[in-house]
Amino acid sequence: MAVIIDGKKISQQIKDELKERVEALQAEGKSGALAVVQVGSDPASGVYVRNKKNACAYIGIESLAYELKEETTQQELLSLIEKLNQDDHVKGILVQLPLPAHIDENAVIRAIAPQKDVDGFHPQSVGLMTIGQDGFLPCTPAGIIQLLKRTGIEIAGKHCVIIGRSNIVGKPMALLMLREHATVTITHSRTKNLQEICRQADILIAALGKPRFVGAEYIKEGAVVIDVGIHRNEENKLCGDVDFENVEPLTSAITPVPGGVGPMTIAMLMQNCVESIAKEGAV
Ligand code: NAD
Repeated sequence: MAVIIDGKKISQQIKDELKERVEALQAEGKSGALAVVQVGSDPASGVYVRNKKNACAYIGIESLAYELKEETTQQELLSLIEKLNQDDHVKGILVQLPLPAHIDENAVIRAIAPQKDVDGFHPQSVGLMTIGQDGFLPCTPAGIIQLLKRTGIEIAGKHCVIIGRSNIVGKPMALLMLREHATVTITHSRTKNLQEICRQADILIAALGKPRFVGAEYIKEGAVVIDVGIHRNEENKLCGDVDFENVEPLTSAITPVPGGVGPMTIAMLMQNCVESIAKEGAV
């Protein structure tokens, strides 16, 4: 029987640990806020932003909400980021993506001070991660490492196959698995023999954004399967990139959707915020 990896429970454990840490930091006089910036009123982004604010409230850090109208210019957004960069009380800055088409996302990410880049998307954070030095890690891949470790799944020496090479999931996931001493294969939309490669995986991470794409024919018996995808099916129910019913019986452990990777992303964002508060005063 496969272990169903419980992201809800593990993320709750992490948030409870962080809550204690925040109390201890406050006792040392260290505090600060996360600034959450949203441009426009995309309903999905609205849900994510609300969840982030709730998580801040739970662990005991302040969140500052900036809800800007859709027509906000790039310059106006950059000016706000500059103001937040200068504000010592703000320890983390998060700009909810995607941004409206008239704003250059890369310019906005680069404008965030690297020491407040709690999403881990700034080129400096990405560079530090690539060379294995301390910096903010992107939340979804970092959350997957925690899911594996806290479930007791060994990573070192395992063959990890990742489907997807995006900057927010696939590529950083590969680097973090490499850091944990896995042998890593990255696959993408132009990969030939995808099934054959996936069937070699001890750990298969699906982040391609196609509902229930990964069926039983992609799985080696006993593999660990991590499903990053989030979709709503015809009945408005959530599903992932993996065909859970058919894949689960073949695996030794698998994440469900919902309740797998999703809750971990916010827990790791909170971890980055707490680290930023803890570094206060550090050179
Ligand atoms: P993306 O669209 O930016 O990237 C998808 C990647 O998959 C691309 O690199 C592409 O080459 C590859 N791909 C597409 N079709 C393929 C195919 N047929 N075969 C092999 N590779 C293929 O997506 P993303 O931002 O990386 O997100 C991926 C999924 O994860 C989405 O469903 C997204 O909603 C979800 N997601 C979840 C969380 C979370 O917190 N759980 C966070 C981020 C993204």
